[in-house]
Amino acid sequence: MFAYTATPDLLSGRVILITGANRGIGAAAAEAFAAHGATVALLGRATEGLTEIANALEQQGYTRPSVHPLDLATAGVDDFAGLSDALAQRYGKLDGLLHNASMLGPRCSLEDTPLDAFQQVVQVNVTALLGLTRPLLPLLRASSDASLVFTSSSVGRKGRAHWGAYAISKFATEGMMQVFADEFAGSTIRANSVNPGGTRTAMRALAYPEENPKTRPTPDAIMPVYLYLMGPQSKGVNGQALDAQ
Ligand code: NDP
Repeated sequence: MFAYTATPDLLSGRVILITGANRGIGAAAAEAFAAHGATVALLGRATEGLTEIANALEQQGYTRPSVHPLDLATAGVDDFAGLSDALAQRYGKLDGLLHNASMLGPRCSLEDTPLDAFQQVVQVNVTALLGLTRPLLPLLRASSDASLVFTSSSVGRKGRAHWGAYAISKFATEGMMQVFADEFAGSTIRANSVNPGGTRTAMRALAYPEENPKTRPTPDAIMPVYLYLMGPQSKGVNGQALDAQ
């Protein structure tokens, strides 16, 4: 596991937007960031699930998160601009953006991958990252220490048979992270990627139905690297591909 111990107030005063925050790793990140003092904004397509997370965090005594329903499969320029306006009005800045939402897509050979299914995976896992990030850049620049975290995968660093569209989308994610990182060089924004490694979530169960989930760490257990990247101690770390486990 990535070795890092976060202080209780590590993220105090920071505002962090998390995509895919209604379950799995995104929900764990929302709780971990809030528990370390951040105000979190939750994005996802499941409004009810996001609201439940917001209620639960408020009940635990944390600042109530804002909820931003958006389907990344269909969101367009106007939707992303609307989100940026809402965050600008509410917070005036953004200190962190965790690109966590993704879809697995078809698990088959590239030869058998239908083009429309390929395009949907690229839309959700790649195009939406750019669509979301671009209008948020002024808010990230309004922070004195902003961190952009992209979520990769082992198959985004080495291709593997039958991981098709998903693997290619994660290579593209790493590529986007590297290009942004180079463009951010010398600025107050940094961009890095995290490979969570096999983690006990619905996506993992979908990809490995035969596996006993208890053999994988929970999303809560892999939070140290996310906390490190969102906090001040990773200032100056830019363009790096890190592993949560
Ligand atoms: P889950 O399937 O548990 O969660 C995925 C999240 O993405 C959900 O909140 C889901 O929302 C959201 N999402 C999917 N499609 C859309 C969409 N069109 N619009 C908005 N939100 C959407 O996955 P994990 O928590 O396991 O994965 C989190 C990240 O970690 C992903 O990027 C994944 O690729 C990566 N990862 C995970 C690994 C693992 O072992 N778990 C290993 C390597 C990488 P909804 O509930 O509405 O579907």
